[in-house]
Amino acid sequence: MRSSRAYRHRVRALRRQLAAAGCDGLLVTHLPNVFYLCGFTGSAGALLVRAGGCVLFTDGRYAVQAKQEGHATRVVVSAAGPLKAAGEYLRPREAARLGIEQAHLTLAQITVLKASGGHKVRLRRTAGLVEALRAVKQPEEVALMRKAARLAQGVLAEVLPLVRPGVREIELAAELEYRMRLAGASGPAFDTIVASGPRTALPHARPTSRRLRQNELVLFDLGAILSNYCCDLTRTVFLGRAPKRVRAWHRAVWEAHEAARQAVRPEAPWEDVDRAARQVLERHQLDQYFTHSTGHGLGIEVHEDPRLARGQKKLLQAGNAITIEPGVYLEGVGGIRIEDDIEVTAQGHRPITRMDSELIQL
Ligand code: ZN
Ligand code: ZN
Repeated sequence: MRSSRAYRHRVRALRRQLAAAGCDGLLVTHLPNVFYLCGFTGSAGALLVRAGGCVLFTDGRYAVQAKQEGHATRVVVSAAGPLKAAGEYLRPREAARLGIEQAHLTLAQITVLKASGGHKVRLRRTAGLVEALRAVKQPEEVALMRKAARLAQGVLAEVLPLVRPGVREIELAAELEYRMRLAGASGPAFDTIVASGPRTALPHARPTSRRLRQNELVLFDLGAILSNYCCDLTRTVFLGRAPKRVRAWHRAVWEAHEAARQAVRPEAPWEDVDRAARQVLERHQLDQYFTHSTGHGLGIEVHEDPRLARGQKKLLQAGNAITIEPGVYLEGVGGIRIEDDIEVTAQGHRPITRMDSELIQL
């Protein structure tokens, strides 16, 4: 568990953002943000960050847990739920411009907050304040992501020998998730993808009861959550000896992957990393089959900033943790993706996942 000091540091950084956003305080309702700022992992919580300190609101189920793991100045437990409790807490207090996280509150929740807070509370929309802080990882956070990566790599290596004709996609997905848990993960970071044959052309395929056949592609995309941090890893294998064109596609995706990786450094626009991958696939006349963005940030959540996509002008910073995951998907034929996680460093980049990225032929 992190020290109180580490959390105070994060809260101080947030307070500086709040002043710039014209808010006297922020009601943090996105649970990964609550966790980031005070360490609380319960499923019902809201954190009020103001100049005087942080108040964590939760319900009775989490009374003990909030005391044990929460680094808030105060914990308020209420059967009414975190939002109503926050509103009631604010009601008798002085008028405040209270920031809310607009991407993480529904209209119904805003109504509850307004009704319980009374006319004194003036709500101000904010966007991505805590997320911007989270995008720049501390070394201890990247260290946790490396542990998660090692776990996922180990599990995939264990399961590869089970990949053979006749096995169902869903069985392999179950093996991966079961072994992640056995290895200490609190769970998968997302629904594990195992796709075989023509289904590999669906970038986000759900595993089905389809049985693997000889001489086809199999795509694995998996992530583990370990100590609250995610990893995200994709490898594509061939069951049998891969024909020349499949090897050529894999080689092109690998080149695109390497080009994107080499474009990663502080101050590089997010879109430049995406462009680097796309240009390689263009040279191979495969760019029309690359139907998603090149990568995304990850950490407490599996999809965070930065977004390595077209039109994203923001700049990478040392401390960003990102995936690099170009792929090509030919409808009715198959798809190939290679995904790794890397850290942006002052010098350029450093790997988080480390696994052979050659085409594995089983
Ligand atoms: Zn993935
Ligand atoms: Zn990903």
